[in-house]
Amino acid sequence: MSKHLTVEELAAGVLANSRPLVAKAITLVESSRPQDRDRARRLLTALRDRTGHSVRVGISGVPGAGKSTFIDAMGRRLIDRGHKVAVLAVDPSSSRTGGSILGDRTRMGELAASEHVFIRPSPSAGHLGGVARATRESMLVLEAAGYDVVLVETVGVGQSEVAVADMVDTFLLITLARAGDQLQGIKRGILELADVITVNKADGEHEGEARIAARDLMSAMRLITSDPNARRPPVLTSSSLTGKGLDEVWQAVLDHRAYLEAHGGLAGRRNAQQLEWLWSLVEDAVLDGVRRSPRVRAIRKHVETLVGHGELSALEGAEQVLESFVLDVPQIWPTEGASRS
Ligand code: GDP
Repeated sequence: MSKHLTVEELAAGVLANSRPLVAKAITLVESSRPQDRDRARRLLTALRDRTGHSVRVGISGVPGAGKSTFIDAMGRRLIDRGHKVAVLAVDPSSSRTGGSILGDRTRMGELAASEHVFIRPSPSAGHLGGVARATRESMLVLEAAGYDVVLVETVGVGQSEVAVADMVDTFLLITLARAGDQLQGIKRGILELADVITVNKADGEHEGEARIAARDLMSAMRLITSDPNARRPPVLTSSSLTGKGLDEVWQAVLDHRAYLEAHGGLAGRRNAQQLEWLWSLVEDAVLDGVRRSPRVRAIRKHVETLVGHGELSALEGAEQVLESFVLDVPQIWPTEGASRS
């Protein structure tokens, strides 16, 4: 593949859903190199009118809850219904070569084989903001390529769930029946993010247990949402092995979306997400600039030592870092301003 594709050629390839060019476009938006960021911005601008038309679903659950198996089974059902399905992941701890979620294609072997599916593992280890940005922009590329369902998987650990909830329409929590300790097992914060919950592995001898757990969780949700008029997420049961309950889970996702639309919430949610995104882009760019600033690099260790030993206050240290950064700004962002014409 030529390295010298123009942004226009790349955009045309994405719109034609050329698989290698979609992959190349995603590699571009994942990159944090300044020259790539500039090309990525121009690519996303070119694709803009063709984005936003998918059902965006976040999928969360602790390791072992059955996320990969669920996505594999659900994805195949959606393809059978004529959808084109993109699967992304947010896992800031992953390195592509390690055992990251989705890193091992064999876990979604059947799904990955379909020409109507595009699976992309989490961008490799980095800070959450960068990983979330890359995933969000990959989602836009995939929407422009015609994928009308985007599933974003995340591991059940704290901040990455919030980042995923901030980029999807519906947040699905996959949980397990572990007699009595569901609530201790699931962090309250994650329950608050959930729009739909399913107690998974409801098959064989565990089916009844899963139903009881779902009922308990449903009553527990009443305590979590203090507003009596607030929509309470439905708690379902499902099995990716037997397929039982999967259609109901998808229907609950669509119902939640319909609910948002009926209450003006879908546009509202997406607009609010755009504002969040705006500022996270600004913060990322500024932080990245501070890290790259030669003057900051030159004084960084020294300032850290002084502050560490109490010889300089944090306030004074920050002032010195920022003063150095400001002097480097014309050098850090030189060509981008010039090439924007
Ligand atoms: P993840 O870590 O959340 O992605 O979980 P996996 O999808 O890798 O599943 C973890 C284990 O649970 C695997 O051994 C699966 O075969 C098993 N599993 C997944 N879904 C189901 C299910 O619906 N029923 C049963 N009985 N086992 C399941």
